[in-house]
Amino acid sequence: MRVVFLGPPGAGKGTQARILRERFGLDLISTGDILRANCAERTPLGEKAERFMRCGELVPDDLMIAMIERELERKPAGFVMDGFPRTVAQAEALDALLSRLRWPLHAAILFNASRPVLIERLASRWINPRTGRTYNALTNPPRVAGIDDEDGGELVQRDDDRADTVAKRLDVYEAATKPLVEYYRKTGKLVSVDALAPVETVAERIAAAIGAAHA
Ligand code: ADP
Ligand code: AMP
Repeated sequence: MRVVFLGPPGAGKGTQARILRERFGLDLISTGDILRANCAERTPLGEKAERFMRCGELVPDDLMIAMIERELERKPAGFVMDGFPRTVAQAEALDALLSRLRWPLHAAILFNASRPVLIERLASRWINPRTGRTYNALTNPPRVAGIDDEDGGELVQRDDDRADTVAKRLDVYEAATKPLVEYYRKTGKLVSVDALAPVETVAERIAAAIGAAHA
């Protein structure tokens, strides 16, 4: 099963991608997580990407497409992509790569949520930077504030979840990424989900949609 997630920052893509990974044994390819790990390790890619990420801009397509090529070289049997593609050029490159591998996509899941909800979710998001696991101070708090329930690691707020950067990221989504909704609609693979519903409800709808797409 091969699925891409589309939707604005804060819509719940990372949360649902982790659920899909567990339930269906899919590889999780999260470009944001990979970039943050590269920044933390101060790799050449991290050094190049950091200034774009810090101000909420997109990392250039050539770097991102090369990253996805490397991820697909690992030959994941099935995957969920969270955070890629984010531009039409990235979507075209992904199509070309997958058609060369004869691995068609099964679905592109679009997460729908309104801007005020996204802003509130991002302002109250806490992450474990080592694993990418996400909590929310309002809707899904850890048992002990600032500590991951699973591994006891410290939770932090992302630098780019500050209000000014969030506004920029939402604008970048509208301008650069939203055109992908039409792109995938034309392929017949687009499935929209109401991302305002509770986490478990969203997970059930996604499982039903990809089950149908895979049948
Ligand atoms: P994205 O990966 O799309 O940026 P996340 O999965 O990190 O979004 O979710 C953003 C924030 O909203 C996190 O704090 C997460 O815990 C919370 N969240 C995710 N899904 C829901 C939901 N269905 N209802 C309420 N809060 C949610
Ligand atoms: P995310 O964790 O998906 O919110 O991504 C965090 C940041 O990483 C984004 O704001 C971008 O700067 C960068 N990024 C992640 N994925 C991509 C992508 N596919 N194209 C360009 N930039 C990306």
